[in-house]
Amino acid sequence: MTTASSNPAEARHPRPLGGDTARQHARDQVVSLSGMVLNNEPDTPHQLSIGKKPAWIRAKAPGGEAFRETKALIEAHGLHTVCQEASCPNIGECWSRGTATIMILGDTCTRSCGFCNIKTGRPAETDLDEPRRVAELLSRIPLKHVVITSVDRDDLPDGGAAIWAETIHRVHEACPNMSVEVLVGDFKGSKQDLELVIEARPEILAHNMETVRRMHPAVRPQADYDRSLQVLGWIRDSGLVSKTSIMVGIGETDEEVDGILSDIRAVAGTDILTIGQYLQPTRNHLPIDRWVHPDQFNAYRQQGLSLGFKVVESGPLVRSSYHAEEQARQLSPDARETATAMEAILSHARGGRIASN
Ligand code: SF4
Repeated sequence: MTTASSNPAEARHPRPLGGDTARQHARDQVVSLSGMVLNNEPDTPHQLSIGKKPAWIRAKAPGGEAFRETKALIEAHGLHTVCQEASCPNIGECWSRGTATIMILGDTCTRSCGFCNIKTGRPAETDLDEPRRVAELLSRIPLKHVVITSVDRDDLPDGGAAIWAETIHRVHEACPNMSVEVLVGDFKGSKQDLELVIEARPEILAHNMETVRRMHPAVRPQADYDRSLQVLGWIRDSGLVSKTSIMVGIGETDEEVDGILSDIRAVAGTDILTIGQYLQPTRNHLPIDRWVHPDQFNAYRQQGLSLGFKVVESGPLVRSSYHAEEQARQLSPDARETATAMEAILSHARGGRIASN
């Protein structure tokens, strides 16, 4: 007879089915995860090679003058970044290049996803001055493309859509040559709230699927696979450039990855896709099920392109906002000059069209 776990995160985690694509390449020690969260069938032992990080998970250490300047600017404006709050492994590289992903609507999320390191709880009062400070900060950074995201604010009647719209308008006004990519939540499936963001015409509008259908109850308990597909479909219908991201190594199989890519293209026709390795931020988060080998990431890329995604960024350290400017540039057939591509994206978002590959 089996005993139910007293830890709700353990109890709700489906049994990972993913194979270990890294097994043939890694000499890492094999550790037993039985008795951890893989316990939907606690009598069955699971052995996965998740020991030491493989050699391909190597990120640049944070530091250097450019890194410190970016940090100081963000702090001076009293803003938050997902780079810090989500413990992103790329912070050393991105901040040294002067790019960061601004996180609006505060630093406290009303949801509690099993993979995410952002603080969860009851958010402080909404900061109505935040859009102005975001625009002011960005006007001081010589970027051609910026990514802005937010915590989920299920406590607000519009999910934060009005603050989103004001932020986009203010950034467009303060930085006319900067394209704005925004990564939004699902607004609990409210098309009306999403439309407020769409009407502000960001150049790229992203919503992340994060994981395959079977893993949703553990990974995104307050979200819904079909609802997220619907949000992506509404973004496609708006004519804006659409984007989504998934992570792998959290319990899915490669067949399920094929399935989610097919679903996204079939239901929502999304333009840009990113795929990266899940990294467990703390021991209280869902465990890593497998290290996906770079060869498999290349296979995902090929699969995505064959399904019709226009741009696929796939690799161990890829995150939704990683190299976002380059992804935007690839959308243009004449991608040699950033400025040309950005003009194309700006013109697309304002009613023109980009030729696709
Ligand atoms: S990948 Fe995105 S979240 Fe991570 S450091 Fe770079 S900009 Fe920030």
